[in-house]
Amino acid sequence: MILARDALALLQEGNRRFVSDISNREAITSRARRLELTASQAPFAAILGCSDSRVPVEIIFDQGLGDLFVIRVAGNIVAPSQIGSVEFAAEQFGTRLVVVLGHTGCGAIAATLQQLQRPIENQSRNLHSIVDLIRPSVAGLLETDLRYDLPALGQAAVRANIRSSVNHLRHGSEVIEQLIKTAGLLVVGAEYSLESGLVDFFDGIPS
Ligand SMILES: [Zn+2]
Repeated sequence: MILARDALALLQEGNRRFVSDISNREAITSRARRLELTASQAPFAAILGCSDSRVPVEIIFDQGLGDLFVIRVAGNIVAPSQIGSVEFAAEQFGTRLVVVLGHTGCGAIAATLQQLQRPIENQSRNLHSIVDLIRPSVAGLLETDLRYDLPALGQAAVRANIRSSVNHLRHGSEVIEQLIKTAGLLVVGAEYSLESGLVDFFDGIPS
């Protein structure tokens, strides 16, 4: 089992390789590795990321087969199936690091802000369910001066939504709460920059 802080270091090192263009895709997706993994898996981190095509989790952390347990959904929101997936990784595979990974320029966040300012009629119920989960974490920002600065509003909303998902994962499940208290499970929040390729781990990082 890889401890949470060691898992975090692996992700940070992998992201540095990605940004520096020294990823080694061939070695980590090799045939030998694929065969080695047929019997079991022990992913060292679970990542709840956004579905955005520009944020492919394994690539930006330079990881390969068997390394990451990845859950992707627009807006990296937390609904019961996401909580269940994290519980599964932590209990079945001993994964001790959980990362909520949002990103700059997130379309789901932009759509939510738009919906709050100018409600779109006849939005699909399914799409609405995503907006509904993002809304509580960003609505308050529209009451501040940020509403006059759209780029800053967007940035603050992305981070507020990540923090909210982290909080929801930490407290939305007895299984996860217990693993945090007794088994060293760590839930952290991070933001990927589309511009620089860097991941900033900004929430819940142990000092
Ligand atoms: Zn997104």
